[in-house]
Amino acid sequence: MSTVANITVPSGHFIGGQRVEGAETFQVISPIDQRVIAEVARGDQSAVDRAVDAARAAFPEWAALGPEGRAAQLRRLAELIDANIDRIATVECLDMAMLERSLKARVIARGARNFRAYADLAASYQERVWGSNSTQNRVIRMPSGPAAVITPWNAPFMLSTWKTAPGLAAGCTVILKPPEWAPLSCSLLADLTAEAGFPPGVFNVVQGIGEEAGAALVSSTGVRRISFTGSPETGRSIGLAAAANIVPFTAELGGKGPLIVFADSDLDAAAAKAAGQYDDAGQVCLAGTRLLVEESVRDAFLERFHAGVDAQVLGDPRDDRTTISPLIHPDHLARVEGYIERARANGDTIVRGGRQPEMGGLWYEPTLIEPRSNDSEVVQREVFGPVLTFQTFRDEREAVELANSTRYGLSAIVYTGTQERAERVGRAVRAGTVWVNTFLVRDLTAPFGGVGISGIGREGGDYALDFYSDLKTLQILDGSTA
Ligand code: NAD
Repeated sequence: MSTVANITVPSGHFIGGQRVEGAETFQVISPIDQRVIAEVARGDQSAVDRAVDAARAAFPEWAALGPEGRAAQLRRLAELIDANIDRIATVECLDMAMLERSLKARVIARGARNFRAYADLAASYQERVWGSNSTQNRVIRMPSGPAAVITPWNAPFMLSTWKTAPGLAAGCTVILKPPEWAPLSCSLLADLTAEAGFPPGVFNVVQGIGEEAGAALVSSTGVRRISFTGSPETGRSIGLAAAANIVPFTAELGGKGPLIVFADSDLDAAAAKAAGQYDDAGQVCLAGTRLLVEESVRDAFLERFHAGVDAQVLGDPRDDRTTISPLIHPDHLARVEGYIERARANGDTIVRGGRQPEMGGLWYEPTLIEPRSNDSEVVQREVFGPVLTFQTFRDEREAVELANSTRYGLSAIVYTGTQERAERVGRAVRAGTVWVNTFLVRDLTAPFGGVGISGIGREGGDYALDFYSDLKTLQILDGSTA
């Protein structure tokens, strides 16, 4: 057990409904002051094997409950998440430094919404039934088996629920491997599943390091689905493990989204949204990190943008005045600094920021870079920090060309005042999601995922339920049964 801000957080694995301590542990530091806040079980092959065995044992009964039976338990879990928002938010804020007020107001509550939405969706599934060739045909969803879920540190609780909720609703049992840089809120989720009355083994957590517990989990022959969110590099290695066992997997990977601003747009709104891309210290896969602005409004945009960034406040994420939190970990800060050093060496222009503020710690100044060319590393690679690039374009064709010029394709943001342009550019940009004159709003039934190295497969709505199911065609000869 660890105590984080007077909240008790179990530090063991959660396997078969029991807490299991690890023979070895790893330390968790808070990004706010870099102090050790917990010692967490460091999962190995044997912990993974136990969790997979527990998930396999629980699977037949959970699958047999049917969508309605499972929905009642998922709704109970959603209620418990809602009742524990403050506790979960406080722990997650200390663990990974997202603004506490955002966690309390929306991020943790979204976890509850995920369970409610999937309880409803799974229960409302209509089997497709039709006649042909003198038979009655039916399409049936079969729960596919134990699912491995692996999540990153930048929204660990919400992303774990986003992937776990459809799996459980579809009738799979789950083994979750939380991120080692922010493992604590998922430990609280495990307790809530027990309180909600989930049978032992339906939901399991194995804590640990990616290359150890994570790699063992995705290589297990007992796992029938793998759902991963994280970096493209890890996605590649998980894809190889999935291929070895012929296990379907989805991968939601990194992003390098454009934020395109046309001269006909509401420049105040566009510039405010651009300055807002530094939220969560830029550690947001969906962020529009490449600002592409029509040449004719370059100065007008930059004036507004700089005013917006000047108003940002770097500070403690528990303080209501703070708008920019520290980065997650010293290793990640070093990674961000590496991008800036290489940008300087490459001859890219650092327009603002490009260093740590005087307060030190893990904070980094909001940084804007005008690249020497579109080939600059800082344009082509995800930094995952408070670093935006700035480029201009002459016309719509060039805007789309620049938008589509990286290997990523997770999301894009477009600002325009013209409906025809919104339609044209919205269709022409290669990305899983394109937002026009808005950002981050999304209906949970819509598909979500990436193009190119931003991912494989789609989550969201029925797309996720299909992923966690094996579709079966059942054909019965007409008149052959009484
Ligand atoms: P990461 O790939 O380093 O780690 C993600 C998870 O994978 C962690 O739990 C880690 O322990 C585990 N892992 C690492 N190596 C593994 C292995 N060999 N086998 C199995 N598991 C392994 O990513 P990160 O640094 O935690 O997260 C940042 C990345 O996640 C960024 O690229 C970001 O864009 C991406 N991300 C994408 C989305 C999306 O929806 N597309 C959402 C959030 C974050």
